[in-house]
Amino acid sequence: MSATFHPPEELLLAYAAGSLEEASALLVACHLTLCPACRRLAGQAEAVGGSLLEELAPASLSDGALAAVLGRLGPVSATARPAVRQAPARPQPPRPGLLPRPLRDYVGADSAALPWKRLPGGLEQVPVVTRTDARARLYRIAPGMGVPEHSHGGLEMTLVLAGGFSDGHGHYGPGDVAVMADGGIHRPVADAGDPCLCLAVTTAPLRLTGLIGRLFNPFLDL
Ligand SMILES: [Zn+2]
Repeated sequence: MSATFHPPEELLLAYAAGSLEEASALLVACHLTLCPACRRLAGQAEAVGGSLLEELAPASLSDGALAAVLGRLGPVSATARPAVRQAPARPQPPRPGLLPRPLRDYVGADSAALPWKRLPGGLEQVPVVTRTDARARLYRIAPGMGVPEHSHGGLEMTLVLAGGFSDGHGHYGPGDVAVMADGGIHRPVADAGDPCLCLAVTTAPLRLTGLIGRLFNPFLDL
């Protein structure tokens, strides 16, 4: 599979450096399982980061200096690096309903078995990451149905896992990431045929626009 639309490069680099917040890191990790090009880029960034660290390791430090620095950092906790950093090294064949490995750590393997919460207009959602800095949700959109038109106070990234959707800016299939920057307005509509399954990450609350949008305010829990 080769994706046409990718996460912003700076996010890939931040992911490789381990400095991305959890929700975005999860989306990038899932994209990497589906996109060899970004996987290569992230791998190169990690390699460069590693060699930089090696070059920076000072030969002139006195004995015990490194141990002292590490000691000051304290023990490395299991939560210091999000689990989503362990992206699989090889691509996964897309199988309907089977979620990418990084997502399975959060919600299990089978999208059909999730506790989908039904919203108006053929839309269903499951919260995945509910932190305040950025949130990740799974959405399932019935064929031909759409998400109400909305704008963004921050970045929204939507990774298609199955099916596809169009939003006036492009058509997105499995592996693609639709990126809406601050202030952008769009209305995603799922393809006819199969439901569209996607992982959406928002770094700030959505602003629903239009009359229909107001109906969704009590449901979206943003
Ligand atoms: Zn990519």
